[in-house]
Amino acid sequence: MGEAGRQQPFEADSAVTDAAGAVISVRVADCAPVSLVSPEGVLGVIHAGWRGIAAGVVEAAVNSARGLGARRLEAFIGPCIHPECYEFDASLIERFASRFGHAVRSETAWGSPALSLPEMAKSALRKEGVTDISEAGACTSCEDSRWFSHRARKEKQRHALAVWKSD
Ligand SMILES: [Zn+2]
Repeated sequence: MGEAGRQQPFEADSAVTDAAGAVISVRVADCAPVSLVSPEGVLGVIHAGWRGIAAGVVEAAVNSARGLGARRLEAFIGPCIHPECYEFDASLIERFASRFGHAVRSETAWGSPALSLPEMAKSALRKEGVTDISEAGACTSCEDSRWFSHRARKEKQRHALAVWKSD
């Protein structure tokens, strides 16, 4: 994204910008919203669901941010579905565990195989050299009075994570 105000709204799984005044945001309900911020003034947001992470959305966003001059990147992972609520296909979990590490392998509150989406996002970030990672640590599924969940309650609403660089 270039200069603020010059772009039409568009749909994508990630966006990066170095333009002062540009607001970029991601809207989710269960997928992880991830922001990237660099002291060099490059910002990014990522819609990080398991499909997107597996398809390389984190890598693409970090590469784009570096292409705009970001050196040190800090990441924040917002509220998303957590493993205690995220029953998942066992064979896919094994595939992701071999690629993203054992920490993605987890268990639901009721004892079924579960995917840890936050761990998958963190692993994908670390693979790209982003090690300064903080997390909201909130689960969209079981913290139902605070967050929306598509999976748990079929809610149509989304929450947004937005970043911008002031002028
Ligand atoms: Zn939960």
